[in-house]
Amino acid sequence: MIISKTKEEIELMRESALVVSKTLGMLAKEVKPGVTTLQLDAMAEEFIRSQGAIPGFLGLYDFPNTLCMSPNEQVVHGIPNNEPLKSGDIISIDCGAIKNGFYGDHAYTFAVGEISPEVEQLLKVTKASLYVGIREFKINNRVGDVGYAIQNHCESHGYGVVRELVGHGLGRKMHEAPEMPNYGKRGRGKKFIEGMVVAIEPMVNLGTQRIKQHRDGWTITTLDKKPSAHFEHDVAIVDGKPELLSTFAYIYDALDIESNEEDEFRQNPIII
Ligand code: MG
Ligand code: MG
Repeated sequence: MIISKTKEEIELMRESALVVSKTLGMLAKEVKPGVTTLQLDAMAEEFIRSQGAIPGFLGLYDFPNTLCMSPNEQVVHGIPNNEPLKSGDIISIDCGAIKNGFYGDHAYTFAVGEISPEVEQLLKVTKASLYVGIREFKINNRVGDVGYAIQNHCESHGYGVVRELVGHGLGRKMHEAPEMPNYGKRGRGKKFIEGMVVAIEPMVNLGTQRIKQHRDGWTITTLDKKPSAHFEHDVAIVDGKPELLSTFAYIYDALDIESNEEDEFRQNPIII
């Protein structure tokens, strides 16, 4: 059952989302050759707690850390470790936080140092597909409209869209109804309603869409070991339209990137 949120609850969820957005912004400056994912994880946990929130992933389904850290061919759910990042890597960082009893949950794939143009294009197209999907998240559209838009955008570039892992409703639980696949057919699936909140999160592979799970029970990698990208936003339907609760503005501020990609999805501007 889809749990619709009141306007007041959506504002609380915006606070939860912003804790995660600020955490990713803090990490953006720290992602560089030589740092380990475990070091970044410790920084994130401390930062989240300093915001009066608690890490959303730590202990959830027995996950051992604050961040899911998935470098290169890892798709999602990678466990932080002592391996230093090196120039040319990409690192998908997925972060969750709980504030006021509500979850925030979003993700960004960072370049470490200089990356190849081929991988840069994968990041660009995957992030663009997220916004293409969000544009379809509006009143009276259906789950399949979002999935179709994301799939169509990514496959038109020859990329593989992961099928086994999906976005989801978000609220007092990390995973609420409905499931939000990154593939689908127009006009199919559950109808969207006012006040619903979801995490939309394309997971897109440079090569095959096929994946495998590692023996640790968590890490998912591409079957052909080619890189994979993951971008995720938290979005509500407010006045019939998609309203972004999370933002990459803190990341862009840290990295000195100009972007207006979020403007059409926000009633009030983000002030940093
Ligand atoms: Mg996530
Ligand atoms: Mg999620």
